[in-house]
Amino acid sequence: MDFEPSSEQQMLIDQVRRFVREEIIPLEAKLDPDSSELPPDDFKRLTDKTKAMGLFGIDIPREFGGPDIDIVTRVLLAIEMAQHRAGLYVPCYGTFGGAGLAQIFEANEDQKERYLYPTLRGEKKAFFGLTEPSGGSDPARAIQTRAERKDNGWVLNGSKIFISNADRAQYGIVFARTDASKGRAGITCFIVDSDTPGFHVRRVVHTLRSSHYATELEFKDCWVSDHQVLGEVNKGFAVANDRLTRQRIPYAAGCIGVAIAAHEMAIEWAKMRTTFGEKLANRQAVQWMLVDNEIDIRTARHFTLEAAEKARRGLPFRTEAAIAKLTASEGGGRVVDRAMQIHGGMGMTKDLPLERWYREMRIRRVGEGPSEVQRMVIAREILGSNLR
Ligand SMILES: Cc1cc2nc3c(=O)[nH]c(=O)nc-3n(C[C@H](O)[C@H](O)[C@H](O)COP(=O)(O)OP(=O)(O)OC[C@H]3O[C@@H](n4cnc5c(N)ncnc54)[C@H](O)[C@@H]3O)c2cc1C
Repeated sequence: MDFEPSSEQQMLIDQVRRFVREEIIPLEAKLDPDSSELPPDDFKRLTDKTKAMGLFGIDIPREFGGPDIDIVTRVLLAIEMAQHRAGLYVPCYGTFGGAGLAQIFEANEDQKERYLYPTLRGEKKAFFGLTEPSGGSDPARAIQTRAERKDNGWVLNGSKIFISNADRAQYGIVFARTDASKGRAGITCFIVDSDTPGFHVRRVVHTLRSSHYATELEFKDCWVSDHQVLGEVNKGFAVANDRLTRQRIPYAAGCIGVAIAAHEMAIEWAKMRTTFGEKLANRQAVQWMLVDNEIDIRTARHFTLEAAEKARRGLPFRTEAAIAKLTASEGGGRVVDRAMQIHGGMGMTKDLPLERWYREMRIRRVGEGPSEVQRMVIAREILGSNLR
């Protein structure tokens, strides 16, 4: 497969690159190093710009008003959008818009009116509630939150942990067991409004991401009506799984973007910094670190574009998405680590974005399925699906 961008793709890449370098990075320099938000006026001004560029909401399907941009091009643009300090988790501070939860596209017409469209308009924020204290790698077996039938609805009891942004969301999608005897075929997905009686954010869980928080959630006799079921009863796990697989591709792209930015900084520094009367770039030990960076980046880029290309062509891409997520998150971590080493003490400071990337990139080996689970997915492909 040839992954060189076409001239149309290159034009879009250049446009986004300019936007990041001319609009985002200078503004970011004035913010707190852990900031995840732009001042409201700047956010509005830059969002208007991305709309004028025709690139607002690039992950929104065309039928819901998104621009008609294929997944390969979106990956190429996501690599560009991540290339600034906050870029791993808040690329361009959200000024390119976004669908939020991919699963909400499965909603019926009534739910679309109440949740999807307000989310696309930026009026509502959502959380994704899958992981529980009993484990997130294997949610099909681990989910203990129960939903029991009552009064044309369901009563939820249980808890969730590490749920991003639930303290700031107006609603969330929550996976609960509706048939204990059926394993993964007994899980249903519910849309839960944050002000539903019986639902509450028990605490904020502080993580390596100092500016953003994960939360712990509690459901105590929390009643939701049948209208809040997303998709079909007992088919919630498929809703989670299909979309999670697809999300691994842009997730990998973000890691690649940050790795490229860290690598470019390390190259520039190595060419400039002198120790013991010689530029760092002339030291073989440093050259080899830069070579390993280059290989990690090219490997991750190749596998991520391969996964995207298969998805674009409607071919199975589960294994490819796992390889992309694995190579980009692990390789990206190594690249940032080497870039910090080359920068010496300066690499440890908040004067540079490296330390934030280092912390946040570490989460990427666990979030959206740990490396070991990705390897398990790939092993199943190699050894057969009966492997447990
Ligand atoms: C900052 C942050 C934000 C998050 N946001 C969300 C969110 O918004 N919504 C949500 O639902 N979840 C979220 N998560 C949860 C995340 O998806 C889980 O942490 C992840 O899936 C792993 O689940 P666990 O932590 O329960 O680890 P466990 O399932 O207990 O696994 C622990 C470790 O065991 C190893 N392991 C697991 N299975 C295997 C295996 N088969 N073979 C070998 N080794 C294995 C892995 O190294 C794994 O890291 C978030 C997590 C973090 C850290």
